[in-house]
Amino acid sequence: MSATPPAPPDAERLLQHVWGYPAFRGLQREAIDHVSAGGDALVLMPTGGGKSLCFQIPALLRAGVGIVVSPLIALMQDQVAALRELGLRAAFLNSTLDAEAARTVQEQARRGELDLLYMAPERLLSESGQRLLEECRIALFAIDEAHCVSQWGHDFRPEYGQLAILRERWPEVPRVALTATADVPTRREIAERLLLDGRAFIASFDRPNIRYRVVEKRDGRAQLLQFIRGEHAGDCGVVYCLSRNTVEDVAAMLAGHGIRALPYHAGLPAATRSTHLRRFLDEDGIVMVATIAFGMGIDKPDVRFVAHLDMPRSIEGYFQETGRAGRDGLPAQAWMAYGLSDVVQQRRLIELSEADDAYKRLSGAKLDAMLALAEAADCRRVRLLAYFDEAGTACGNCDNCLEPPDLIDATESAQKLLSTIYRCHQASHTRFAATHIIDVLRGKRSEKVDRHGHHAVSTFGIGADLGEQDWRLLLRQLVAQHLVEVDAAHFNVLQLGEASREVLRGQRRVQLKRREPGTERKRRGTRGAAGASGKSAAARAALPALSATDAALFERLRTWRAATAREHGVPAYVVFGDATLQAIAVARPNSLDALRGISGVGDTKRDRYGAALLACIADD
Ligand code: ADP
Ligand code: ZN
Repeated sequence: MSATPPAPPDAERLLQHVWGYPAFRGLQREAIDHVSAGGDALVLMPTGGGKSLCFQIPALLRAGVGIVVSPLIALMQDQVAALRELGLRAAFLNSTLDAEAARTVQEQARRGELDLLYMAPERLLSESGQRLLEECRIALFAIDEAHCVSQWGHDFRPEYGQLAILRERWPEVPRVALTATADVPTRREIAERLLLDGRAFIASFDRPNIRYRVVEKRDGRAQLLQFIRGEHAGDCGVVYCLSRNTVEDVAAMLAGHGIRALPYHAGLPAATRSTHLRRFLDEDGIVMVATIAFGMGIDKPDVRFVAHLDMPRSIEGYFQETGRAGRDGLPAQAWMAYGLSDVVQQRRLIELSEADDAYKRLSGAKLDAMLALAEAADCRRVRLLAYFDEAGTACGNCDNCLEPPDLIDATESAQKLLSTIYRCHQASHTRFAATHIIDVLRGKRSEKVDRHGHHAVSTFGIGADLGEQDWRLLLRQLVAQHLVEVDAAHFNVLQLGEASREVLRGQRRVQLKRREPGTERKRRGTRGAAGASGKSAAARAALPALSATDAALFERLRTWRAATAREHGVPAYVVFGDATLQAIAVARPNSLDALRGISGVGDTKRDRYGAALLACIADD
């Protein structure tokens, strides 16, 4: 490990004058100093943590051009546009450029006229790419989405493996590997392949502005609609679904209710996909309904919610997907509807996959960790952080903290349920699904009960004290814990799990977690979060309360931003983020000088947009 020499004096000045930010966050300063001084670094920070500055500022401080390797061709253009808005000299080289445009960029790079050059990995590895690099003075290599180097990860990119060539051919050029998602083995792989004597800068994974919520799935689509209408009307958001069909249905359903929703999945024509992506990035308030094919590297800072209609298959996935909400640090929500079908479906997907047994076991363990998070009755943030080996305390900003569920000892009920599964099987030498088992428990003489003579089973009617929904809740928890297995290949019939004996013998307790029926939280005044009660507050829960006059100015600034962004052909957020416009609406600066104090207004943007902003304010 190399010691970090004293900080170059100008990092702070760049932050304030180019970006217009008052201070560095967390580990940014340390990472920037280390890389500026020529060190290799692994920067591991959650989405929205501010990784970009960790290579952008060193690239400005060091002589030569900073080469940024990114697998996300579709997003390079926006990243470069955002840098140009700041007055920096940035360009990209990828397959979307025609030959002449590419030649111009290469010329600029050779002549030392670029601060930052974004390159797709295949471009960089090609012969011409390598030749170009030989001819340039290189300040550093930044390898974005560095977890793509991991052979075991779900985002593996073979070209990333070949990036080892960078340290062989340019050992003296510092390398920064950046990612928001890397467990310990992945970190090791990144270090082995991409870095030399690297130092790791690992930030807390906590995203305090994101509120985590999991609701009982009853009618998922209706619940989603209610959630968006009730709490995020007009907001930008992402809805994740497992299948392409669901994506299209849900997008159509939302659109039918007047929500500006668009579908996105790998099966759509490329042109449709890119139009939808463009609209999501450029416009305010689009809801993208998507499979997980959507999202990596999406920089849009004002995504106010991420909703899951189907459960992700691992906590990494959940964290990554929900992490796309609230990059701007303003309040955002991660909402998931979760039910028994999610458990059954995900287990089945693992079973059916063609992977080998080791991989299936690993996937099964990851899924179980995700299930435990979904079933948790205690702080979800503490559990999320614990998964990434980080300690935390009850957060006050998740459903379980805000409205602790009632916990009842349900060991006896669980015994009744397990016995009924067992006895029905014994009586008929065949297995049964949940509906029938619950009918028997509750003493319901259904046609099927009569046909099988199950009213004669000794547990018939012993569960009349609980409602059908409670039984389903309990069953789901038992399934999540492998106390009951569901055979998805055979009509979802139930079967006792290995560990069920412990429950039947009274050696293992089971708790039933219950929330008020009706699922969608009716906030109970006594326990509700501060400021979260009442319809109007909830409806704009996303944004901190602005006074009516400030809110009106904010809306006018947004309108100005939309027009300006269209005119310049850049996404709205590239002009200014919501947080900056809000700060302006509240502070109402009356001179160019006064604009200087607003976070997010750097010198170039002040020169470019200051007069227009002041005019908006004066008109108010
Ligand atoms: P990441 O790449 O880690 O997801 P970004 O680098 O895109 O995050 O930064 C997230 C947001 O936070 C961006 O809008 C960025 O401009 C902003 N940001 C980064 N560093 C700071 C800072 N020191 N002060 C204020 N805002 C910052
Ligand atoms: Zn909590």
